[in-house]
Amino acid sequence: RMGQYGLERWPELLASLASAVFFQREGTLVLWHRQDAPEAVRFAGVLARTVNEVPGLPAMQRLDAAGVDAIEPGIGKRFAQGLLLPGEGQLDNRQLLAALLASLQALPNVTMHWHSARAPDEFEPGASERIIDCRGLGARPQWAALRGVRGEVIRVHAPEVNLRRPTRLVHPRYPLYIAPKPDGVFVIGATEIESDDMSPASVRSTLELLSAAYSVHSGFAEARILEIATQCRPSLPDNLPAIRWLKPRVMQVNGLYRHGFLIAPAMLDTAIERLATRTPTLASRFALESE
Ligand SMILES: Cc1cc2nc3c(=O)[nH]c(=O)nc-3n(C[C@H](O)[C@H](O)[C@H](O)COP(=O)(O)OP(=O)(O)OC[C@H]3O[C@@H](n4cnc5c(N)ncnc54)[C@H](O)[C@@H]3O)c2cc1C
Repeated sequence: RMGQYGLERWPELLASLASAVFFQREGTLVLWHRQDAPEAVRFAGVLARTVNEVPGLPAMQRLDAAGVDAIEPGIGKRFAQGLLLPGEGQLDNRQLLAALLASLQALPNVTMHWHSARAPDEFEPGASERIIDCRGLGARPQWAALRGVRGEVIRVHAPEVNLRRPTRLVHPRYPLYIAPKPDGVFVIGATEIESDDMSPASVRSTLELLSAAYSVHSGFAEARILEIATQCRPSLPDNLPAIRWLKPRVMQVNGLYRHGFLIAPAMLDTAIERLATRTPTLASRFALESE
């Protein structure tokens, strides 16, 4: 939960882009089945510590069955307890990438090269030039500590489901979420498997994700599966993002793990500061220093 360091920055960043991006801060609902109550207690403890550490972050609200029903009537009273994390937000990642592309294309002096693999050692930047290497797992030849963490995610069209905000379901192996997107589309994700295996989603993962969604809202029964996707998250040993200088004038930004969209504004501000000054103040808060 990045609080003001991430979510507060998104609206102003989005306002500067060439096309609209769905963004809302209706909070996140956290639910769990009875058998996962111990994991829910652990998770609530982590959240409580975060609220203490990050000034200004709104406190979580404990809900009973009636409370869950009041904020998400579609779920009804099938969960005895829940947590509401006020102020949590979400954005449409695909709209964001489309808007970034349109914005880049509208700028003068921007040249894009698609489908062309690059490595930093191919270039020797001049005194006024900088290279910023954001190749995710593609940077592994220059950053041996990077590893892939496989994630599977399912996109469905579910017009019978009326969830208004992202809903997380506490799960013993990985945090699951159902994220509403515009036009009755929901993204159900994401598994977390220590592997850089990019093969298609497994039956087990698909069953887990779809069962989780159906257990939260029976309207998913008639949903239509639009897509089942697999990707690997670029991750460092501590699962925290990092910025480092590979050599003079070549900066690497990597290790965004599960949170690339959530923490992008913080990484952006940190990277810009690192480019602009030799005495950064932001970096220590977010990034592992390994110059
Ligand atoms: C299933 C799944 C669900 C996720 N859900 C969320 C979520 O809900 N919220 C959230 O905040 N984050 C989420 N993430 C994490 C997020 O997607 C990542 O943190 C983010 O994509 C990392 O961004 P990146 O730009 O650093 O790396 P990447 O997205 O991996 O991008 C690296 C790019 O570099 C390119 N490249 C690689 N090698 C080369 C080369 N040699 N030359 C040129 N280009 C190269 C690649 O083609 C790629 O386009 C999820 C990830 C997965 C897999």
